[in-house]
Amino acid sequence: MRMRIDVVTIFPEFFGVLDVSLLGKARQSELVETHVHDLRDYAAFKADGSPDVHRTVDDAPFGGGAGMVMKPDVWGKALDDVLKPTGVLVIPSPAGVPFTQALAAELSEAPQLVFACGRYEGIDARVAEHYAQDGYRVVEASLGDYVLNGGEVAAVAMIEAITRLIPGFMGNAQSIVEESHADGLLEYPSYTRPASWRGLDVPDILLSGHHARIAEWRHAQQLERTRERRPDLLPPAEGGAW
Ligand code: SAM
Repeated sequence: MRMRIDVVTIFPEFFGVLDVSLLGKARQSELVETHVHDLRDYAAFKADGSPDVHRTVDDAPFGGGAGMVMKPDVWGKALDDVLKPTGVLVIPSPAGVPFTQALAAELSEAPQLVFACGRYEGIDARVAEHYAQDGYRVVEASLGDYVLNGGEVAAVAMIEAITRLIPGFMGNAQSIVEESHADGLLEYPSYTRPASWRGLDVPDILLSGHHARIAEWRHAQQLERTRERRPDLLPPAEGGAW
C-alpha cells in the first residue's frame, strides 16, 4: 500500500526539504507520495462569501489575549478538500500528546496522513473537535516541551520519523529494530574504524568477535545510558520511575 501524505500550511516552500535524502527517494518510489497545499488558496472568500483580497487566515481570539488564532472556516474548506475517508488528521501542537516512536509506528500504517500546520496562537480548537466528531482519527501531537513558531518543523520531523518505519523504506530493515526507543531503551554507543582515535580506544569487547558477550555488553550499555539520561523510560525493576 502506498502512503499518501498531505500537508496544509501557509509556508508551502518550507517542504522543499522533503525532496532530500531517503524520503526524497521514497517519494519517487511506490512507498509514499506527498502533496503540499497552501492554506491561503482556501481563503479567497470570506465566511459570508464575499471575496477576500488579503486571503486572511487568522483573526483575534475570542475572550481577548495576545496573538491571533487561525480561522476554522478556512481550515474547514482546506481539510474538506484534502482529507480522504480513511485519512488521519495530525495537528502538531505543543499542547498535544507526546510524539513518540510508538505513535510514529501506529501512524506509519495509515493510508493517508494530513498534517495541519498551525501558526500564530494555533488553530481554532473546533477544527480538531469537528473532524473527530465526523469520525476521523485526530491526533494533536507535540514534538517536545518547547514552543516553535509554527507546525512546519514539527510536521517535517514527524513525517521523517513515520515514513522510515514503512516496510521497505530503509535499505537495512534491522537498523530500525535495534535503535533508540524501539525496545523502550536508548541505543548503546556505536564505534567504527580506527580502533584508536586521539587517545580514545574502542571497548575491547567489540573487537573480541564474541557475539553473545557483545550483545550482553550492549544491553548493559543501553540500561546504563537510559538510567543516566532518561530514567523516565525505565521500568521500576530497572530502577526507573514508572
Ligand atoms: N499558543 C500555543 C500554545 O501555547 O500551545 C503555541 C502556538 S505556536 C507559537 C504556533 C504553532 O507552532 C502551533 O500551532 C503548532 O502548530 C506549532 N508548534 C509549536 N510548538 C510545537 C511543538 N512543541 N510541537 C508541535 N508543534 C508545535
